[in-house]
Amino acid sequence: MANTKLNKALNEQIKHELDSSYLYLSMASYCETINLDGFASWMKNQSIEEYEHAMKFYNFLHERGAEVELLPIDKPPKSFGSTLELFEKALENEQKVTKLIHKLYEAALEENDYPAQVMLHWFIEEQVEEEDMVRTIIEKLKMVGTQGAAILMMDRELAKRGE
Ligand code: MG
Repeated sequence: MANTKLNKALNEQIKHELDSSYLYLSMASYCETINLDGFASWMKNQSIEEYEHAMKFYNFLHERGAEVELLPIDKPPKSFGSTLELFEKALENEQKVTKLIHKLYEAALEENDYPAQVMLHWFIEEQVEEEDMVRTIIEKLKMVGTQGAAILMMDRELAKRGE
């Protein structure tokens, strides 16, 4: 059980989730520098969620006595353009993660690994929600524009997450 192809891929997923966490933290930092505290707060919440995702994989591997080997995480970009470009980058990242989760599920099916399949169901649903949430924000940003009073209104709306 310990050194299956799937366990190795689940271990790699810890890194991918931490890459996401780090990316959102960098996005938060970027938003702080342009004085969009609500956007920054939303991104920090997202960063924490991604860390929690990494820990779900970490705990799952330990529970089954498999090896956890922490891999180096990527340096994220430092600036992200307009708030619309920022969320488009976030969507791109979520779509990438969705593909990785689906690949893990395919491996779990191939290996008849039922516990992994059950664990991954949660992530499959979570990715649908994540993409939907980011897409909704992109649509709203397109609706109101990314300048002036509209962006301050969006900033207040995004600040509500985690309240
Ligand atoms: Mg995630």
